[in-house]
Amino acid sequence: LIEARDVVLSFGQTPALRGADLSVAAGEILAVMGPSGSGKSTLLHCMAGILVPDSGEVLFDGRRVDRMREPERSELRRDRFGFVFQFGQLVPELTAEENVAMPLLLGGARRGPALAEARGWFPRLGLDGLEGRRSGELSGGQAQRVALARAMAARPDVLFADEPTGSLDSLTGEQVMELLVDAVRENGTTAVIVTHEARVAACADREVMVRDGKVTSLRLERTGP
Ligand code: ATP
Ligand code: MG
Repeated sequence: LIEARDVVLSFGQTPALRGADLSVAAGEILAVMGPSGSGKSTLLHCMAGILVPDSGEVLFDGRRVDRMREPERSELRRDRFGFVFQFGQLVPELTAEENVAMPLLLGGARRGPALAEARGWFPRLGLDGLEGRRSGELSGGQAQRVALARAMAARPDVLFADEPTGSLDSLTGEQVMELLVDAVRENGTTAVIVTHEARVAACADREVMVRDGKVTSLRLERTGP
């Protein structure tokens, strides 16, 4: 569904990707591991059409993302991709349900149906009763689950998650990650998840390692529960 081919990208003098190859099948849940500074976030941003590589190709559904102009890329991100980052992605002044509904509203949905769809995600993510809470008043784990609901409510083809549990304690992080994996599996969403935690990566269908701006395979197939 999504593929990076020989992707090279430098930030000024700093090489971040040096010929990264990665392909993700439709419906696959892929964990991306690797040391700090190895290029994981940069690779995710290239695949998601946030950054444009210096050379190489990025394909989504057979389309060259790296050749798209910004309006087309932002449309792709809005209509087909969902994002969960480490922190700071909710609008603190808005309620939790307004945050979840926001991408739907931006996509042209009416307020009523968008809020109804948003609310439907709360019980599934253990967020009952928090619909009307201002998101600035949520705990870290709650906020990450709301961010996950927001990413999933728009029914993306691909969910990109960059250390979505990085700001949480390990138990909360594990619970959020379990919910994330369940949610993407249930919806058949393709997911690319950057994580430092081996236990989290073990829930994925496949694991790859980024090292010095290149991708190596860690585990080819799901080996157990
Ligand atoms: P971490 O695990 O710490 O998040 P990462 O694997 O996600 O690390 P990247 O953020 O992709 O690593 O960074 C790869 C390299 O590119 C690093 O050397 C980093 O310093 C550099 N880099 C990343 N973003 C920028 C930027 N906006 N400007 C300059 N250099 C950058
Ligand atoms: Mg990173």
